[in-house]
Amino acid sequence: MDLQVSTEMSITLGEDGVSMEVVAEEQLYCVCQTPWDANNRRFMIHCDHCQNWFHGDCVDITEKESQWIDSYSCPRCEKFAGPSKCKILRTYTVYNKER
Ligand SMILES: [Zn+2]
Ligand SMILES: [Zn+2]
Repeated sequence: MDLQVSTEMSITLGEDGVSMEVVAEEQLYCVCQTPWDANNRRFMIHCDHCQNWFHGDCVDITEKESQWIDSYSCPRCEKFAGPSKCKILRTYTVYNKER
């Protein structure tokens, strides 16, 4: 009986694993609700609160600016978690725009 149960369980788990993978691929990211595109080389930033990913240009953050961000809050999480936290700039005294 134990063997039968474990066989059934492994089949069920296998099927679930497949369907979970499909769900994960269809998950929508960012404020623009776009599925993950592995070929997309756009810069993305990770929200530390909702664990979602956002396109830099959708949330108005450039890749360069992101290096100063220690803990990013997306527009939704900003409302309860407060704004993104910046790193304390010790070695780099000023954020100099190149132009
Ligand atoms: Zn986006
Ligand atoms: Zn968030």
